[in-house]
Amino acid sequence: SSGLVWFRRDLRVDDQAALYHALRQCAQVHCVFVFDREILDPLPRADRRVEFIRESLVALDEGLRDLSGQPHGGLIVRHAVARDDIPALARQLQVQAVFANHDDEPQALERDAHVRTALQALGMRLLTFKDHTIFERGEVMTQSATPYSVFTPYKNAWLRKVDDFYLSAYPVERYGRNLAQRPEGLRHGVPSLQALGFEPTGLAQLRLPTGMQGAQALFEDFLERIDAYDDARDFPAVKGPSYLSVHLRFGTLSPRLAARTAYARSQAGSAGAATWLSELIWRDFYFQVLAHHPHVVGASFKPAYDAIQWESGADADALFAAWCEGRTGYPLVDAAMAQINQTGYMHNRLRMVVASFLVKDLGLDWRWGERYFAEKLNDFDLSANNGGWQWASSSGCDAQPYFRIFNPVSQSQKFDPQGQFIRRYLPALAKLPDAALHAPWKARPLELQEAEVVMGTTYPHPIVEHDAARERTLRRYAVVKAG
Ligand code: FAD
Repeated sequence: SSGLVWFRRDLRVDDQAALYHALRQCAQVHCVFVFDREILDPLPRADRRVEFIRESLVALDEGLRDLSGQPHGGLIVRHAVARDDIPALARQLQVQAVFANHDDEPQALERDAHVRTALQALGMRLLTFKDHTIFERGEVMTQSATPYSVFTPYKNAWLRKVDDFYLSAYPVERYGRNLAQRPEGLRHGVPSLQALGFEPTGLAQLRLPTGMQGAQALFEDFLERIDAYDDARDFPAVKGPSYLSVHLRFGTLSPRLAARTAYARSQAGSAGAATWLSELIWRDFYFQVLAHHPHVVGASFKPAYDAIQWESGADADALFAAWCEGRTGYPLVDAAMAQINQTGYMHNRLRMVVASFLVKDLGLDWRWGERYFAEKLNDFDLSANNGGWQWASSSGCDAQPYFRIFNPVSQSQKFDPQGQFIRRYLPALAKLPDAALHAPWKARPLELQEAEVVMGTTYPHPIVEHDAARERTLRRYAVVKAG
């Protein structure tokens, strides 16, 4: 029998569920990735994710050829509308089934349903598997068989359920001989960015290693630091987190490898590994929130929060533009926005700070921020991004209470005390003394002069006053309490 593995966000050879099942079941296995025009066509022409995927496919193609032991055993790469192209290719290759991994984003589910029906009409099947998470969908539920809506009990149930079965790797390498040679006409390799209609984004300058090997290198580097993760992770100037989110997003790192390693180190007593494992469980948590509650795409998890009146009109547009461009006058917020704009990454503490600032200082709809992050983040993931934004706006599943409002200055003093992060991204403020850096509008004239800072010229005045904004927010959220 023969099968076709459709790679999507699982761009690796090792421990890949759909690839493993196809190789075990079929004597001839083809592999394909489709640069999906439905996703790509609306994007701006410079997109770091497209470049990341392209480079990762080069590594995947090589990995598949190595595994097959044949020069033409690699990846078929297409640039087409996936929902039409997959059935067409399956038909051309005369396979019995297409194998893919679950993707529970609403648009992906709709696409897969379409493909499944088209394949059925051809007498073929679409077989899908869990791969991106340790537990998904209804696997971790409360005793009354409802989805969890609070993280800590979810995490405890997750930890009670997890064992070697869920964490062990799929031994793909045992079955490499079942990879098929690509037929002539389908051997053209990975297209260039230019052929896909995209421009280079300078990914190499970001020192963001791509592909399976890149993921492995970052993971090994992180394992040297994992024990200190819980102490270091909150300080954006410190190399504390793993920077693996983009690899988990595109599956160039196996989530089972990540969780298995963290679990073993945590069992051996590493507090850092236990905290990092918790972050991976948050990842599963938000995936299952999206799977059970697809209404969170576009609407509040808690419907009462949809009654909130956000700022609108030209003033709101101007505030939003200042936030996007890092011109709010709050240095930590502006440095964080410079980080996402320049690199496509933002430290987790800063994601919380800038999200809270957008919603609770500027009074803007969280969906505006969610959309901006979706466009900019290399690791953009619908479930985690939506979960993060709804956490910050208090409308989400197990979110920050609405009356908890981050103070952007005290967050700055606490998490970037010497201003190393701020100075890196806001060179205009670099010469200010530490104490003045977090709120330059309060600096003494001499301090400003010596640091060559001219408020309103070299650096903006704050666009809102935090204490007044806080009061407005409490009034704005009163509709929720009233409801
Ligand atoms: P590490 O600290 O090393 O964490 C390890 C991994 O755990 C991450 O790579 C990620 O896969 C997962 N993780 C960590 N925190 C979370 C979390 N809160 N929710 C879900 N998974 C988590 N993460 C994304 O992957 N994509 C997003 O689009 C995204 N948007 C966010 C938006 C907001 C407003 C907020 C507050 C958080 C968002 N996060 C998102 C979560 C988190 O900020 C990033 O996962 C993390 O900063 C990535 O860096 P890292 O890989 O170095 O993380």
